Amino acid sequence: TCFSSCGLPEKLVHNLEAAGYTMPTPVQMQVIPASISNRSLLVSADTGSGKTASFLVPIIAHCSRRELQQCARKHGPLAIVLAPTRELCLQVEDQAKVLGKGLPFKTALVIGGDPLAQQIYRIENGVELIVGTPGRLIDLLMKHSVDLTDVSVFVLDEVDCLLERGFRDQAMQIFRALSCPQVMMFSATIHSEIEKLSNSLSNNMIHISC
Ligand code: AMP
Repeated sequence: TCFSSCGLPEKLVHNLEAAGYTMPTPVQMQVIPASISNRSLLVSADTGSGKTASFLVPIIAHCSRRELQQCARKHGPLAIVLAPTRELCLQVEDQAKVLGKGLPFKTALVIGGDPLAQQIYRIENGVELIVGTPGRLIDLLMKHSVDLTDVSVFVLDEVDCLLERGFRDQAMQIFRALSCPQVMMFSATIHSEIEKLSNSLSNNMIHISC
């Protein structure tokens, strides 16, 4: 399968098997290799398609490689996933923990409703992935509580929902704080506003639909 032939860390392949992911879903078959090749992607995928693992697997693989080179120093996150709701963020982080188990891969949730101080403390101790809603991440940026210089992967999950909730400008503001990240956008529907956003994030997006 692409899980064992994509050059993923052995531990990650093991975690995928342990989670019962024996075969990649169609969306994973397309997204994982493209993402490992550092391409920016606009993906049309519904909930239930396995889209979450399709962006988490390459992120975890990327983070394990980077960690080897940077060992001893505490560093800022290498990847950000923005999602429209607290519930979706919780689900994404849960899956990230399952798939990243036993790997040098720590996550932080950045969502409203939880104590800010706790989230800052966790980030200051060094994390690889931040999963959050745009509003709370902007709060942390304003307070200079998060250093985004090392971020090289930027995921927008459920972009249609992000836009419906009016998060466009906040997502752009976060994007502008990053230096040339690989962008992965996921949406159930792709309409003109989403294409416009994708063009402002990258002029080299691959479109994937399954
Ligand atoms: P998602 O579309 O990301 O919300 O995923 C839907 C469900 O499919 C989640 O419960 C995942 O745990 C599960 N899943 C994702 N990828 C696979 C796979 N390759 N094999 C079996 N289950 C999977």
